[in-house]
Amino acid sequence: MRAFSYERPMDMAAALAAIGKPGAKFLAGGTNLLDLMKVEAETPQHLVDVSRLPLTEIVEENGGLRISAMVSNTDLAADARVRERYPMLSRAVLNGASGQLRNQATTGGNLLQRTRCYYFYDSSSPCNKRVPGSGCSALQGFNRIHAILGASDACIAVHPSDMAVALAALDAEVEVRSAKGKRRIKITDFHRLPEATPQKETNLNNGELITAVILPPPPAGRQVYRKVRDRASYDFALVSVAALVDLEGERIRSARIALGGVAHKPWRALDAERGLVGATLSDDAFAAAGEAAVKGAQGRGHNDFKIMLAARTVARALTEAAQQRKA
Ligand SMILES: Cc1cc2nc3c(=O)[nH]c(=O)nc-3n(C[C@H](O)[C@H](O)[C@H](O)COP(=O)(O)OP(=O)(O)OC[C@H]3O[C@@H](n4cnc5c(N)ncnc54)[C@H](O)[C@@H]3O)c2cc1C
Ligand code: SF4
Repeated sequence: MRAFSYERPMDMAAALAAIGKPGAKFLAGGTNLLDLMKVEAETPQHLVDVSRLPLTEIVEENGGLRISAMVSNTDLAADARVRERYPMLSRAVLNGASGQLRNQATTGGNLLQRTRCYYFYDSSSPCNKRVPGSGCSALQGFNRIHAILGASDACIAVHPSDMAVALAALDAEVEVRSAKGKRRIKITDFHRLPEATPQKETNLNNGELITAVILPPPPAGRQVYRKVRDRASYDFALVSVAALVDLEGERIRSARIALGGVAHKPWRALDAERGLVGATLSDDAFAAAGEAAVKGAQGRGHNDFKIMLAARTVARALTEAAQQRKA
């Protein structure tokens, strides 16, 4: 690990000033950043620890919820309002990492955690994300966990956050703040596809701090989060799906579908959603939505299985959501 300096500001103004120092980076729970520093995939010169900032509340806002950035994953998943009104979010968070990690991990840090591509963590392997221009070892390598949608020849990594997938289905926004002021970014515009610059993973500008995630009023319908992984105790998603189905009798009034583990960002399947509107509730309708969700998907060899897995997981999650209404 490279040497670095450290400070722990107690208020927002001090934190936003400190991040202007050369090579500075925010530190929240440290559950991802410190691991990356140990393998020198991240080499900040200065850490600005934001854990003492007053950003630990979940409050009501305009019929929805405002989740401050330092709310731990445990507290977010356990919040009674989140469990009742946004159950897919609570389930997604509980499906991530282990209990101990969730106690330490924060809302802001979860959104900015970096990919779990093995080659990104291995300094002896070429990786465009770690060293731009060096190549992508996963393209011809072992790419079982890699992307089937939205990838590029520069990078086929996936974003690992479960929380972000549920937030994409819920139309959440991310509130960010810098010395220049405040702004909000739709969660679906927050993460980027790799294109030719996989090292740039979000549309966050230098010096911007995530201050909160904003949830709009809960959407009508039943919500489900379904995650498929190699190990049940804790593991990253091979494929995950946040699904919502709103029914009027046997007709589908609206649906929402977001996938994780398939792309460099949470993947909202808008065409599949549109195809369900007005359809009669049936296995065939949900199977067709699964197929539509993976339209254009491309396997890279070891991850070819993900295409069918994703289609079936979408269909299964929609079915579960519809069955909840009947229960
Ligand atoms: C063994 C293991 C298994 C895991 N499994 C899962 C899983 O299945 N699903 C899942 O979703 N996650 C999983 N995780 C990831 C875990 O959820 C993340 O490491 C965690 O959420 C990151 O939060 P943190 O507060 O520790 O962030 P940190 O490690 O402190 O920071 C991560 C990044 O975010 C930046 N940052 C943090 N807060 C802010 C802020 N407020 N504003 C701007 N920048 C900020 C930091 O600069 C850094 O770049 C796992 C982690 C481990 C170690
Ligand atoms: S998939 Fe992306 S992160 Fe993985 S080796 Fe290729 S460039 Fe690096």
